[in-house]
Amino acid sequence: MPSDMPTRPAPACGPEPAAPAPGAKARTRVFVPGPLTAGDDVRLPAEAVHHLRTVLRARPGDRIRLFNAGAGEMLGVLTDIGKATAAVRIEAVLRSPPEGSGPDLWLAFAPLKKTAMDVLAEKAVELGVTRLMPVLTRYTDTQRVRTDRLTAHAAGAVVQSERLDAVPVAEPVTLNRLLDDWPDDRPLLAAVESGPASPLASAAAAVPRPLRAGLLIGPEGGFAPPEVDLLRRARKVRCVGLGPRVLRAETAALAACAILQAVAGDLADRPPHRE
Ligand code: SAH
Repeated sequence: MPSDMPTRPAPACGPEPAAPAPGAKARTRVFVPGPLTAGDDVRLPAEAVHHLRTVLRARPGDRIRLFNAGAGEMLGVLTDIGKATAAVRIEAVLRSPPEGSGPDLWLAFAPLKKTAMDVLAEKAVELGVTRLMPVLTRYTDTQRVRTDRLTAHAAGAVVQSERLDAVPVAEPVTLNRLLDDWPDDRPLLAAVESGPASPLASAAAAVPRPLRAGLLIGPEGGFAPPEVDLLRRARKVRCVGLGPRVLRAETAALAACAILQAVAGDLADRPPHRE
């Protein structure tokens, strides 16, 4: 090589940058239920078509990612997009469905004001909650819960956080009903801000793995004294504390989710496609 040719400096350390993974540029992710197989053509759900057309201005030839928990994540090419329908040809597998089961954490919470509840739903999904369950308690501020709105926030957070599984939002139930219907094999950790309670991290460490549990967070006004009695007496419930400060309900919910996921080992893993 002539000595006056510009040379590229050697990297200070580390391997040559890897070629981008196929599909790395296809940022748009669409949840599509059912089997997803390379070579197949699939129709997209109507809500996704609207978003692709009017917000993302997608056109035939654009690459997008399709996903669901059973099928994993696939790279596809948009072959047709109309007002109400769109078709994608599946080209390749980007992620296989995960093996084994990670933590399975249901979040039961007393409804909050609109913005706080939207934030709560979105962030809880980012933190790996698998089911959102509004619960009506004596001091609940809002009796009307827009589950469609929460579902939309949860779906957006699933896409953004690169999850494969949809997060369902249950219809609101009373606290009594929640406790009556609660499965026996899923400990419910109820956050109570006063009186005796195990620290959440120690209570979580005692839950068998893989973690299948629920977390219950009260309303801005807290649980009423008879509700706290009910929780303390319930066989399926363990009352837990989140430290010496009284947290706002949304802070309590998100801090508790992060603590539980850390104790369950969820925050230590990275999926293979982002290692
Ligand atoms: N009304 C209470 C505060 C309620 S905080 C008051 O004004 O004193 C809202 C909810 O967040 C509570 O019902 C509880 O579920 C949770 N929470 C807040 N801080 C907590 C703490 N230090 N320990 C356990 N739970 C807490």
